[in-house]
Amino acid sequence: MLRMESVRKTFGETVVLRDVDLDVPQHTVTALIGASGSGKSTLLRCANLLEEIDDGAIWLDGEEITDPRADADAVRRRIGVVFQAYNLFPHMTVLENVTLAPRRVHGVPREKAEEEARGLLERLGLGAKATEYPDRLSGGQQQRAAIVRALAVRPRLLLLDEITAALDPELVGEVLDVVRDLKGEGMTMVLATHEMSFAREVADQVCFLDGGVVLERGAPEAVFEDPQEERTRKFLRRIV
Ligand code: ADP
Ligand code: MG
Repeated sequence: MLRMESVRKTFGETVVLRDVDLDVPQHTVTALIGASGSGKSTLLRCANLLEEIDDGAIWLDGEEITDPRADADAVRRRIGVVFQAYNLFPHMTVLENVTLAPRRVHGVPREKAEEEARGLLERLGLGAKATEYPDRLSGGQQQRAAIVRALAVRPRLLLLDEITAALDPELVGEVLDVVRDLKGEGMTMVLATHEMSFAREVADQVCFLDGGVVLERGAPEAVFEDPQEERTRKFLRRIV
């Protein structure tokens, strides 16, 4: 569903991604792990065309989205993104947040958008929060609402960038439960995470990024239990 080939991304003199290859089959979960600054967020931002790559190519559903002739807005409409924090517009209710893109970008009539949004909110345990403003929600509820908002446009692919990193530990579980459920429904996801036990449980493929290079990749059992690279071993020793 998503393919990156020899992707290179620089900021000025700094090479942030070098020759990154990535293959994300449909209905699979890919976990990106690696130290802070290793390039996880940049990789996700490139996949969503929030950053322009310097070299290489990216395909979504067989279409080369890094082709200058590709319609970047149309590409972004097929990808849902959730960041670490501040995903929701504070001056809008949860329901307004969730229905914004379906109504404005996809032209879904208000009534239908709200009906679908309420269904999704219900499913993620936020049925009672539809008319609340974000600051009345816990961090975990806000992130779940942000996931609902990303899902509201029925994305083909979901990119999740450390969505539990800003949460109090007791709120992490409820957000990870949602990701677990989405995996059960076959949603294709790429997630950057520091939650190693979660990555191990939920991912079909784990990629260890080190200095902008995918240094090691494989099934979670292979990467976590039998890492081939010394730097992977060092990283895992430090973090686990
Ligand atoms: P991670 O998400 O793994 O922590 P990032 O992708 O955020 O890593 O960052 C990778 C590197 O790219 C870091 O060295 C960071 O400082 C640099 N970087 C990220 N965004 C920018 C930017 N907009 N301008 C300059 N450097 C950046
Ligand atoms: Mg990051």
